Amino acid sequence: MSTESPITVGILTTDPSFTFFKVSDTASNDPSQDQSGPTLRNILSTPPVSWVVAEAAIVPDNPELIKGTVVEWCDKKNLDIVMTTGGTGFASRDVTPEAITSIIERPTPGITHVLLSTSLSVTPFAALSRPVAGIRSKTLILTLPGSPKACKENVGAVLGMLPHAVELLRGGTGKKLHDKMQGKEPEGRAHRQHDHHHHDHHHPHREHSERHESGHLSQLLDEPVTRRLRKSPYPMIPVSEAIRIVALHTQRLEQISRPVDESLIGSVLAEDVLASEPVPGYRASIVDGYAVIATDGPGTYPVVSVSLAAPSTDQPALVAGQIARIATGGPVPSGATAVVMVEDTTLELASEDGQKEEMVRTIVTVAKGENVREVGSDCAVGELVAHKGTVVSAVGGEVGVLASVGIKEVSMVIVCIRIKVMGQWDIMYKFLLFTQFHNLTVTIFLRPRQLQVPAFRKPKVGILSTGMELVDHTATSALAYGQIRDTNRPTLLAAVRAAGFEAKDLGIAPDSADELEKALRDAMSDVDVVVTTGGVSMGEMDLLKPILEQRLGATIHFGRILMKPGKPTTFATVPSTGPSSENLFFALPGNPVSATVTFYLFVLPALRKMAGFKNWELPVLKVQVWFLHAQLSEFDGLTQSTCFSHHASSIHPAHHKLLHNIRLDLRPEYHRAILSIAPRSSSPSPYTASTFVARSTGHQQSSRMLSMLGANALLRLPPRDGSAPRRELLAGTVVDAVLIGQIEI
Ligand code: AMP
Ligand code: MG
Repeated sequence: MSTESPITVGILTTDPSFTFFKVSDTASNDPSQDQSGPTLRNILSTPPVSWVVAEAAIVPDNPELIKGTVVEWCDKKNLDIVMTTGGTGFASRDVTPEAITSIIERPTPGITHVLLSTSLSVTPFAALSRPVAGIRSKTLILTLPGSPKACKENVGAVLGMLPHAVELLRGGTGKKLHDKMQGKEPEGRAHRQHDHHHHDHHHPHREHSERHESGHLSQLLDEPVTRRLRKSPYPMIPVSEAIRIVALHTQRLEQISRPVDESLIGSVLAEDVLASEPVPGYRASIVDGYAVIATDGPGTYPVVSVSLAAPSTDQPALVAGQIARIATGGPVPSGATAVVMVEDTTLELASEDGQKEEMVRTIVTVAKGENVREVGSDCAVGELVAHKGTVVSAVGGEVGVLASVGIKEVSMVIVCIRIKVMGQWDIMYKFLLFTQFHNLTVTIFLRPRQLQVPAFRKPKVGILSTGMELVDHTATSALAYGQIRDTNRPTLLAAVRAAGFEAKDLGIAPDSADELEKALRDAMSDVDVVVTTGGVSMGEMDLLKPILEQRLGATIHFGRILMKPGKPTTFATVPSTGPSSENLFFALPGNPVSATVTFYLFVLPALRKMAGFKNWELPVLKVQVWFLHAQLSEFDGLTQSTCFSHHASSIHPAHHKLLHNIRLDLRPEYHRAILSIAPRSSSPSPYTASTFVARSTGHQQSSRMLSMLGANALLRLPPRDGSAPRRELLAGTVVDAVLIGQIEI
């Protein structure tokens, strides 16, 4: 791990009142009980500290659970720091120090001393607290007291030295941080806060990165426009870092049972699925023809029965010298060993009324088993039909397989209590006796649900547009001056649903702090992910960041990304009151193209990760960039446009000529393009079906939604080097193309 990447922390709260096995902290019965966890989280993830709280859990005061959780965070999750709160006192249930001591490889008595002396400086009773600290592999583990106040004091005492400790544990020299801590180099945001101490309160401009006393970076909600921020206080982070941060806060959702239908598309199977029935369940004919006894050979035989593809119970057995008419999929009569195709037979004798076949001649020899699908030959009972982790696609293969093999899952349990009245029990049907006391019976009914499969729950996404200028796109009245149609909501609702996830339309919220707060609060209780558009740039009506921080208590993990379009994209988390432990907030820019591009780059991968996709990132192709002056008829519309091919070598020089290079921006740019399979029929085209060509969608302004029209790829154009003379992308350069849609011919 780089010594530069953000510090990752795990917070483990021990809670004596907690009886469940282990849950994520905010999903506990009553998260308000756990005060130290949220306090710590707030301190550690809020600027200027801005560490990443990658894991959080509550466990009862049980040494095995404490050890198990911390060891996993150290050894598997490789967190930099693990902090526990609670269980460090003298009560018999206080076992955290013993649990942690047993897994520490190298004690750190200096840190223990600081923790203790901090508490002692507040009260002599701190002598009754038993903190320990130490290192396991590359993780520093600290035990903090359970009371939020003491916890805050203790963590405050060691906070400043922890980055240095982490740098050393990661293998760095510690010199850079040490220098910073000694004041030889300004330390980013934390130090800038001090730089501004001299700040005159009557000064109309607040400076870049000045923080409020609350620790927030965002513009204060009730300040007049004269005191607005004139530079964004949010550091500009690279796209890759933004993706990493989103992924750190994105957890796979829980396992549920799902019916097998189109709603399963986009789901990931949570367990291996075995066939519970054989396919076929009976010996079935593959063709229309006559069931025969193969050893009888060609000849003329009486047609003794008919077997259609329909349930039948009283089919007579076939004996030597007989045949049975049979349809494709019909049950092969017992005794029959093969089926002769109708094309290989002739009618010898019909019934007098001409309605029935009496005698039929078979003219070919068939081997035993020919044209017969034996029981379970497509799929046997117990056969693994789909692996855990299989993504149910829209192609139909997975839905089809799951539907064909009769998956049943016992998924609903109804508990029934019965009381013995006057020595008599009621009549009970279908039940499993669970337990019986003197005059009480507890019964559990297990009701199998047909065709349910274990899948991970798919995230539910709320889509909210913000802006006073917006009118619902379906409005029939003419737009008033200053109004525009809400483009983002229908676009994103369609994109979420097309990816197989559930989307809730949250409507349009005006640029009013109260109304936005209400809309976001309402949304949080019902969805896992809230996506808003608009209100994140530098205008006085751009309220999203302040509301998230100052009204919802959200942690903003980033508020600016080095990219074009999409610079003000904002990502925040809030402990949830809804279906998952933490609500994710993506506040996307208002310009429709920016909103759509950032949806594909940040939101969709997060949704895929929550749904259990192993490969949650969108596919990326390498595309070699060429600029064609194509006069070829097969590239209708390509003339004079920019064209990119992923097989440059296959482009015959005669068919392209450099027209112009593409001008690069100072920020990495996501250029919308239409990737298609080049036609191969028209001669003398050098293209083959294995060649993709990508066509630019034209002018790339972030307001111009036409630049998304037909786009199925985002070409990652590198930023231009501000100092270098060359400001254009040269033909032949290979760039990444992020696939956001299907490739059409
Ligand atoms: P904002 O980020 O709110 O300043 O919006 C930036 C630009 O995007 C402004 O021109 C807005 O009018 C426009 N915009 C914001 N939301 C939408 C939307 N839902 N549909 C279309 N344009 C929008
Ligand atoms: Mg706006």
